[in-house]
Amino acid sequence: MPEGDTIARTANVLRAALVDRRITDARAQAQPGMRRVPDLSRLIGCTVTSVESRGKHLLIGFDGDLTLRTHLRRTGSWHRYAPGERWHRPARAASVVLETTSAVAVAFSTPVVELLTPGEMRRSMALGSLGPDLLAAEFDADEAVSRLAALDGEELGNALLDQRAVAGIGNVYKSEVPFVERLNPWSPVADFTEEQLHGALVTARRLLQANTRGGARVTAGRRGRGQGLYVYGRAARPCRRCGTLIRSGRQGSLARLTFWCPRCQKR
Ligand SMILES: [Zn+2]
Repeated sequence: MPEGDTIARTANVLRAALVDRRITDARAQAQPGMRRVPDLSRLIGCTVTSVESRGKHLLIGFDGDLTLRTHLRRTGSWHRYAPGERWHRPARAASVVLETTSAVAVAFSTPVVELLTPGEMRRSMALGSLGPDLLAAEFDADEAVSRLAALDGEELGNALLDQRAVAGIGNVYKSEVPFVERLNPWSPVADFTEEQLHGALVTARRLLQANTRGGARVTAGRRGRGQGLYVYGRAARPCRRCGTLIRSGRQGSLARLTFWCPRCQKR
């Protein structure tokens, strides 16, 4: 599942390609998991006014006050092409195609595509229930800490993934952040002080921000291939701090893999 930093990078690329451009063609196509195929023909002739990430949602704004909301879930990705350039994925996998005279933006295998009016934006459950966005210019850490703390019986690894508490953390950071902060991802949130939760969010924001710029994702401060992360994807390999073998286990109702060092992150 893409992390908030991936969506922020995508927003940067699409913003440069689309903002202030007029849409010459727009279409959506059914994909697995898509509940309803929106009619995007209303966007033809509109000008793109904004592209922003909010948590893991990508919002493209148009004059005339329409907003295209996409959520990539686990399968989706946005690509930018020049007109006439060959796509890297088959056309049948395109969920959305937006064309201008200078660029073609394609969302592939993206199950969530909605065209929203301002009223629908305000009423959107998906957006309205989001916790503070770790990548927003102004991050409300106190609000995020209290939302996290309210999930007191939930294991930390699951709570960090709950976008209603705090928006932007995916599978990689829900393992990396507890490692950096020496917190056990299997302990319930109630076991941690507000200070510890606050520390985890400050670290999450710092790592996400550092990784919006491009290149391979790095949390461990080393840029070499396979060197970037502390624990994610490193099961049975030695901890970069203490040499103990990293463990992995499936966590939560969706059985997402969590990685941790049993010595550095004692319960
Ligand atoms: Zn360790």
